[in-house]
Amino acid sequence: MNDIEFIRECEDALKDKFAIVDDIAYFNQVKVLNAFRQNRIAVRHFAGTTGYGYGDEGRDTLGKLYADVFSAEAGIVSPHLLSGTHALSVALFGVLKGGDTLLCVSGMPYDTIRPVIFGENIGSLKDLGVKFECCDLTADGNFDLEAISEKLNRATVVYIQRSRGYELRDAFSCGQIGEICKFIRKKGFKGCIFVDNCYGEFVEKTEPTEVGADLCVGSLIKNAGGGLAPTGGYIVGKERYIEAIGRRLTAPSIGLEVGSYAFGYQYFYQGLFMAPHTVAQAVKGSLLIGYAMSRLGFINYPSIDKMPYDITRCIEFDDADKMQNFVREVQYASPVDSFVCCEAWDMPGYDDKIIMAAGTFVSGASIELSADGPVKPPYVAYFQGGLTYEHCRYALERILAKLRA
Ligand SMILES: *Cc1c(COP(=O)(O)O)cnc(C)c1O
Repeated sequence: MNDIEFIRECEDALKDKFAIVDDIAYFNQVKVLNAFRQNRIAVRHFAGTTGYGYGDEGRDTLGKLYADVFSAEAGIVSPHLLSGTHALSVALFGVLKGGDTLLCVSGMPYDTIRPVIFGENIGSLKDLGVKFECCDLTADGNFDLEAISEKLNRATVVYIQRSRGYELRDAFSCGQIGEICKFIRKKGFKGCIFVDNCYGEFVEKTEPTEVGADLCVGSLIKNAGGGLAPTGGYIVGKERYIEAIGRRLTAPSIGLEVGSYAFGYQYFYQGLFMAPHTVAQAVKGSLLIGYAMSRLGFINYPSIDKMPYDITRCIEFDDADKMQNFVREVQYASPVDSFVCCEAWDMPGYDDKIIMAAGTFVSGASIELSADGPVKPPYVAYFQGGLTYEHCRYALERILAKLRA
């Protein structure tokens, strides 16, 4: 069997899963369109402003639009949220003060969030007097209800990370997030339930804010930006939290009344409109590569027997060369910088050397086809994105050829 026949066979085996992905995309497309219609989005909302940006209708309406899509009370969507990490950091500083305790119930948070929480003498939450507690997941990757019960009465904010980050676990479904929110409330927790939603948007029909989360935060160069947003982040949730976070994003005296963006907001609106479709392309690409790599004997997550709950996939190579070759083929298959050979380097915010393929239109956008991972045993590559399914398929073709060579 040649590679093309092999890929066709994989696609055939994935037909039912692809149909589920299409159904979710349609549901979310209608959800997004309803929010656009409700908010009477018009061409004037795309216009840029300068200076203070008082009365910037594009900015304010974009926040409301996101809030509606996520069934939240209010939202901040801004090019001035520089990345997912920045959005998460601003949101955490907005809802926590000295003496409070942040309890993370989904194991250690993402690498770049750790210094935000407990870095030493860098202006971290810890430096401000915020305490941190963490509940590891159980051996089978579930929330540890016993550990959570024991620590919950000391917590001010409960933190849940939906996606896997660089951990070998599957993303949580909104069903699981809903269950843990219910559990936490039943135990009498009155504080803020905060979800890092990076890579999770539009993968399911629901979002964390629809199942009990008070705040939900993500990056616009991942799912929610639909591949068009040039930069930025979003924060949606309860109005009182959003207002507090707005005062942290700007200044306590001005909150969300200021903020301009001269280039205008078209790509933020259009990106949100595209996001359900784009995410479906990436999920199908992830399923295809996951299935093909399983057939070739490479262990990868999420298991190919289940539907994914985020757009990322981790593939174990147990071999530095194979892992780096995989990442390099993703780069060679890219529309931008296809001639570049990836090398591992010390990326800001990460402890290990990371090799990263990101031949993307928007620099570093991981809703676009990309692959990365720390070059250390067990040599796991994290694969995500793909603006078109066809691009993912082509990358797989190249990977298969390289594996055979
Ligand atoms: C990507 C990611 C972040 C950080 O986002 P950046 O935009 O890269 O700063 C945070 N949490 C998770 C789970 C992520 O996947």
